Amino acid sequence: MTTIPSRVDDAISALPAPTCAYIYDLAAFRSRIATIRTALPDDVTVLYAMKANPESKLVAMAAAHCDGVEVASGGELQTALTAGANSIVFGGPAKTDADLRAAVQAPVSTVINVESIEELRRLDRIACDLEVDVDIAFRINRSARTPRGSHIMTGVATPFGIDAKHLAEAVTFARTCPRLRITGLHLHAVSNNLDAEAHAEYITDCFAFADETAAEFKLEFATVNAGGGIGVDPEGKQSFDFDLFARRLHEIKTAGLTLELGRYLAAEVGWYVCEVVDIKHTHGRTFAVVRGGTHHFRLPAAWGYSHPAIVRQCHDWPYPWDRTEVTNTKVNVTGELCTPRDVLARDLHVERLRIGDLLVLPRTGAYAWTISHHDFLSHPHPVVVFLD
Ligand SMILES: *Cc1c(COP(=O)(O)O)cnc(C)c1O
Repeated sequence: MTTIPSRVDDAISALPAPTCAYIYDLAAFRSRIATIRTALPDDVTVLYAMKANPESKLVAMAAAHCDGVEVASGGELQTALTAGANSIVFGGPAKTDADLRAAVQAPVSTVINVESIEELRRLDRIACDLEVDVDIAFRINRSARTPRGSHIMTGVATPFGIDAKHLAEAVTFARTCPRLRITGLHLHAVSNNLDAEAHAEYITDCFAFADETAAEFKLEFATVNAGGGIGVDPEGKQSFDFDLFARRLHEIKTAGLTLELGRYLAAEVGWYVCEVVDIKHTHGRTFAVVRGGTHHFRLPAAWGYSHPAIVRQCHDWPYPWDRTEVTNTKVNVTGELCTPRDVLARDLHVERLRIGDLLVLPRTGAYAWTISHHDFLSHPHPVVVFLD
């Protein structure tokens, strides 16, 4: 069972009531980045995929301690530049001319992952108009379904990347573009993979594919970008064996390897805290209704699982009547929205839960606040606290 670190617990004590907050542990984020950097071979480039959590303080920390930031929109590009990123990789399937122009003009080293031949045409025109040389990588949707694991984005029909069958056409066109320089391949293929051995095999396979492709087209690739996808089990039951993954990478070729890590860097540094405002029993079930819900933390609703929550007792009780409590039972944790889908957890076992207690949800630093529909029902946003 996850425990709440004391610095996070102290921050929770200082929160105003009715409590609803995200707490981000910047020191934990920094040490996580450092641990990962140290474990991996020196020739691996580690980028922070900021869509996992675009809070500017996290992005600034990543800009300072990773090798760069991966951005997926013009907005993210601006945040990353403001945060001090000195190396940018820009992906995304629907880049506009304005996005491409901003990336081409970014005052730091930038690689654009080109997702289609149409995008290549527009990028060529923009680079020629602005008279700027541009580093590109081809994002490829490969024929092979690798790696094993969840949320596969390659080897199947998706809107991401250039079908490997069309790579020859893309290379032929890019060779006619005086301002574009082909630097590598981008092969992001998976999300939330918890199998370290499979992820290492996938990296091996990315290099095999890159070597074959380089030979076929007589190209040299400075980078092989394997994307992100190293997972964190939101329920905390399994974990990605990063030490094993790092050991495997020391055994294989990694020169030029780029990893774009989002969830793995950010998930565990965030804590969502919400106060129980009501407890009720209806049709045989017990509900703990909180100040907060899926408009702040949508992942359990989006993925259809129950997020674990730690009960943190609060002793203040301002009312003259008895405080409602349940003991040794299962509760559904639901939010303040007027929809039955606003469920954070089902059948959460609680030893004791009272109205006014807090529920603390660990591993809510990635794809949490940022993917949620904040303004549905116009409730106030959570307080956001950064622990330096
Ligand atoms: C989302 C995304 C990432 C990060 O994925 P994680 O699963 O959070 O590591 C990296 N690269 C690209 C292109 C992405 O779209």
